[in-house]
Amino acid sequence: MEFNTITESLEKINSNKISIVELNDIFINRIKKNKNLNAFIYFDEENISQQIKKIQSSKKNFKLKGIPLAIKDLFCTKNMPTTAGSKILQNFQPSYESHVSQKLLDQGSIFLGKANCDEFAMGSATNTSYYGNTINPISPRGSQLVPGGSSGGSAAAVAANLCLGATGTDTGGSIRQPASFCGVVGIKPTYGLCSRWGIIAFASSLDQAGVFANNIADTAILLREIAGHDNKDSTSANREIPNYFENLNQDMSGKVVGVPKEYILPDIPEDISKIWEQAIKSLERGGVKVKNISLPHTKYALPAYYIIAPAEASSNLARYDGVRYGFRSEEGTSLDEMYELTRSEGFGKEVKRRVLIGTYVLSAGYYEAYYMKAQKVRRLISNDFNEAFNECDFILTPTAPSPAFPIGEKEDDPIKMYLNDIFTVPASLAGIPGISIPFGKSQNGLPLGIQLLSKHFDEQLVLNAGLYLEKNNV
Ligand code: GLN
Repeated sequence: MEFNTITESLEKINSNKISIVELNDIFINRIKKNKNLNAFIYFDEENISQQIKKIQSSKKNFKLKGIPLAIKDLFCTKNMPTTAGSKILQNFQPSYESHVSQKLLDQGSIFLGKANCDEFAMGSATNTSYYGNTINPISPRGSQLVPGGSSGGSAAAVAANLCLGATGTDTGGSIRQPASFCGVVGIKPTYGLCSRWGIIAFASSLDQAGVFANNIADTAILLREIAGHDNKDSTSANREIPNYFENLNQDMSGKVVGVPKEYILPDIPEDISKIWEQAIKSLERGGVKVKNISLPHTKYALPAYYIIAPAEASSNLARYDGVRYGFRSEEGTSLDEMYELTRSEGFGKEVKRRVLIGTYVLSAGYYEAYYMKAQKVRRLISNDFNEAFNECDFILTPTAPSPAFPIGEKEDDPIKMYLNDIFTVPASLAGIPGISIPFGKSQNGLPLGIQLLSKHFDEQLVLNAGLYLEKNNV
């Protein structure tokens, strides 16, 4: 298919082989033809043409001139409503633009719309969105598979070529797992590389913005544009951002890849173990040394995450009370009742579950037993990675324990849903960068993803290793 990469499209735009209007029309038409996927919560052609006019009339030398993108509906946007996939923010129109999306606008990209996501980014299947499920475009005829989550709309939009790239957020796997399910590239940078300012908060010590694209080169281009210091986010790192795209180098010879034994789980389907093995072999052929490593506290990562993330969420979501933003229940007869009814009508089941768990683990008497313990586990997990990186340069694991599953599955059992995050959560707790790249196929021909992890701020290495595997795929 023509025009499915940013590199190619930029080249054609910059040499006037295609106009911004023509390029964007291709994607607008695809979105209209694929409405059934429900990848977008907000899409408005008039809004898009306003943006295009602005870029056309500017003389600025834009780095992403006319590039059509999808923005996860967790990023506040000044000219588009922002819902976080929740009823409580229905019709909410922010008065400001998130730092990350502003940076993309400053480089002349076009926002085609707001991508569907799990409510407040809580989920692994984009099934908790108040605005309905997104359908994975790779679903074989006659079936409807989930796109993963929580950034499922973004991953699906890129996979179906409804845009050339998309933003996502990843708190425990929400970029990497949907990338794996949809067969696209997704990167979660180091915590602090991209500003969280203007992104609706889920768990602030874990939330990190990142991107989806169809290949490593496009991912590298987008990542450079969204990364960088912002003094409005106190956890934003102040450091030079490398030119990831220009520095791409697929020569991996002499590097050491770590394969953690704790990720070899008994219940993992054979096809996933097989592609993991194949990726290791592929790297070996490229001159990479393979080292078996140990990350001993891995099994405590998921329980620790499901204490820390809900604890932070319960605090972050306290602000939705019907007074300041979005939805307000009309039923209450007193202020307290109005708060109660607004929150019980405005939040979905999964969000309420997290708020309850979070409030519980933070309450007097339980705080030490749960929250403090989980924080200590988090430190041990982080130390595991630090030690591992004394022995290897990067780590290779599967991204998710299964390929995309049918819509409706795992919905009655939250634990089953949480197990989707088993391979992605440890890196989130440690704040290190992780990328998922499509590698191989399941027995049924569904895309599978392989995850690459590296040291804090070594995004270049996972991009380079990803490029090697992209070129040496099975
Ligand atoms: N699936 C995980 C959760 O539900 C991760 C979500 C995310 O990374 N935003 O919490």
